[in-house]
Amino acid sequence: MYKIEWDKDTGGVLLSAKVTKETLGIAPRPVWFEELDLLGLDRLGWTYPRTEEPLMWAVNKQYFYRGDLMFEAKGANIYDTPTIVFQSGKETATIKPIDVKEMLRRNSDQMFLIENEAIEFIRDTYMAYSGVNKANALSKANQEVDFEALAEKVEKRTKQKMAVVKQDCDSFDIVPLKTANAEGKRVLLSTRIDRFIASFSGGKDSQVVLDLVTRAIPPTAFEVIYSDTGYELPPSLELYEEVKRFYGERFPALKFSTTSNHESVLNYWDKIGTPSDTHRWCCSVMKTAPLYRSLKVEGNKQARVLTFDGVRAEESTRRSGYNRIGKGVKHSTVVNASPILNWNLVEIFLYIFKYDLPINIAYRKGITRVGCVICPFSSEWNDMVVNQTFKFALKPFLKKIENCVNKLAISDQDEYIKSGNWKRRAGGREMNPDSALNVISANPDLIIEMVNPHKDITTWFSAIGEFKGNSEYGHIKYGNSIYSFHVENKNHKLIIIFPNANNALFIGLVKRALYKAVFCINCEACEVECPTGALSIIPEAKINKSKCVHCQKCLNFHELGCIVAHSLKKTTSKSTKMKLVGYNNFGLKEEWLDFYMLNHEDFFKSSDHGLNTKEQLPSFTKWLVHAEILDNAKTKNITEIGKLLISIYSSNPSLVWEIIWINLTYSSPILTWYAQSVPFLKKTIDAELKAMVKNDFPDTSDTTIKNIVYAMLRTLRESPIGEDICQYTAEEKQTFVRLPASELSREAIAYSLYRYSEINNSKELRVSTIYSDTEHGPKIEFGTILR
Ligand code: SF4
Ligand code: SF4
Repeated sequence: MYKIEWDKDTGGVLLSAKVTKETLGIAPRPVWFEELDLLGLDRLGWTYPRTEEPLMWAVNKQYFYRGDLMFEAKGANIYDTPTIVFQSGKETATIKPIDVKEMLRRNSDQMFLIENEAIEFIRDTYMAYSGVNKANALSKANQEVDFEALAEKVEKRTKQKMAVVKQDCDSFDIVPLKTANAEGKRVLLSTRIDRFIASFSGGKDSQVVLDLVTRAIPPTAFEVIYSDTGYELPPSLELYEEVKRFYGERFPALKFSTTSNHESVLNYWDKIGTPSDTHRWCCSVMKTAPLYRSLKVEGNKQARVLTFDGVRAEESTRRSGYNRIGKGVKHSTVVNASPILNWNLVEIFLYIFKYDLPINIAYRKGITRVGCVICPFSSEWNDMVVNQTFKFALKPFLKKIENCVNKLAISDQDEYIKSGNWKRRAGGREMNPDSALNVISANPDLIIEMVNPHKDITTWFSAIGEFKGNSEYGHIKYGNSIYSFHVENKNHKLIIIFPNANNALFIGLVKRALYKAVFCINCEACEVECPTGALSIIPEAKINKSKCVHCQKCLNFHELGCIVAHSLKKTTSKSTKMKLVGYNNFGLKEEWLDFYMLNHEDFFKSSDHGLNTKEQLPSFTKWLVHAEILDNAKTKNITEIGKLLISIYSSNPSLVWEIIWINLTYSSPILTWYAQSVPFLKKTIDAELKAMVKNDFPDTSDTTIKNIVYAMLRTLRESPIGEDICQYTAEEKQTFVRLPASELSREAIAYSLYRYSEINNSKELRVSTIYSDTEHGPKIEFGTILR
């Protein structure tokens, strides 16, 4: 929030509202004697006292004493401590502790302001949302109208944010949020809150928030919940007990509780695999799911919760985009309120010092971010400190990582682990799961083979639609269609067959439901996604049909519908053949190409094109490469066909776009897919495209597919490829049809045949090629072409 400067007198820091030449670019963290011991400074000739107060500050791995850079720590990793590189003349030093008392006195005005602002925010947020509770009760009691449910319905229908407002005559009304704000109405929000919580993690941020909340609202109004992941740092568990005592003595009415998964984290490592940056199952399974399960209310329903969290914008770019109050950011039934969103690291520590709050020992040892003993997102520095100071806690996990790397037959295994490559695991090739799912065919019949499914294969069918039947045969009603199926048992494999399941969305959902049934190990993660309480996972996975509203949240919450299936799945052959490429969400716009064709010589030298250089220009360049106008995105040389297209563009732009379309069907992976997979003359829903791509590229993440499909749709809608070449004719309700091109030029047909023979290295052309639905040629690109 404030700018920071060194304060050489106290050895501390000063908060200031102004930017000066002394202002520090990054907020430093305090350093205690325990960290200097770990780095071996005492053995290297430094003298310092073993005090309660910190001694110096660090920014990244540079260490400052009274404003002077003293040394840098280089090259730490999970096995090795860093090398210390001293600044000249700083090889020996006698260090005095920071004068914390005086530092606090000098920063007292600034701290007073930010603390009180945060307290006010907490109080206002609490009043607003607890006011909703009263208003809801009142409106229901007086008028028998559930305004909250009505507001949600109106929001869905009008696709704009609605608010419940209190009118002058004390009645309630639902109006657009914008109107309510413009008219200065008292907005009661549209969220009923069942429970207010302060989630405690053992880290400094959640500790400050907890203290602020105790100062802002009564201890009976909220509760403290600590999610124990099963591999918490040992001092975090100790701190939780200390914090419980600390506040328990002051506020006996304040409720504390812990949550944890029913199974141990080490068992899950065996069953799901090591967590990685792609498979961060541990957060959902060990932290979020147990927390939200513990918050359920009557009828197994998810409670509506407001949680005061310790999120800070400074922590990451993603977090810097968060609002201070976020509804449904992390979970659909949770409102997150972040009182210290704009606080910096220094302000956090000043608050802890000022109120003498118990501090997690891990910070004194040099850990910069308190979390689990090991984490795919932790830095090499934190891995090093944990292995040096909490070796016994890390040991079983490190052993598992080493065993896992062993199975990968990597030559330099130490180096692989040191450089953190184990955190990049994408597939499940070292896991060898005892179950498997293979899609044998998706067209015309959906045929899926399953080996050793863990659950009855129909367990999640009710989530798709109304399901009737058993594990041998039955049917599912989806939309206005009824899809029947039967199951065969061949060589210890179950084969499920849906004849003529000609609907990509339905196929996608069936696959997700079956992935769940095959791989489910009752991890709890999908249960908390169910808004109605229909799904329960413990003790057995089952859906209560009378409560299920077929919202499909339990199927769509994660890739493949199941955290475990996604982690164990091996890469499929189709996705290794062709890899999808993204375009930063931008399509190939007609006006961009127009400008390029007429100004190609200076296009990349000037900024007259008006495209932003961060996203639009790289995206357009990629499209030019895939249109085969440029050789590649780096050199940007114009190809021979590119030169020809530029020369005819002014006189015959239609032909240029026809040729660009042909080139894109060869060079742009997503348009190759489109040309080969989207049928002509069939009404297709925009949303269906994502499911179709997912069906063909199951290893590509949902987010990547969403972005690529969006860019593809923009190309089809914002260039002549869509309407003029008939590849995308928009109809009502976000549906479209791909039509056979009606006015195709002869040159384009000739070019298409030329490309065909070039790609197939063939000098002969069979007439059947022109009509082939399966060979990449004119029919695939344009539909019927000979009339
Ligand atoms: S189906 Fe749900 S509970 Fe079962 S393993 Fe998958 S995510 Fe976990
Ligand atoms: S999330 Fe719950 S209500 Fe929705 S489909 Fe699944 S079981 Fe049914």
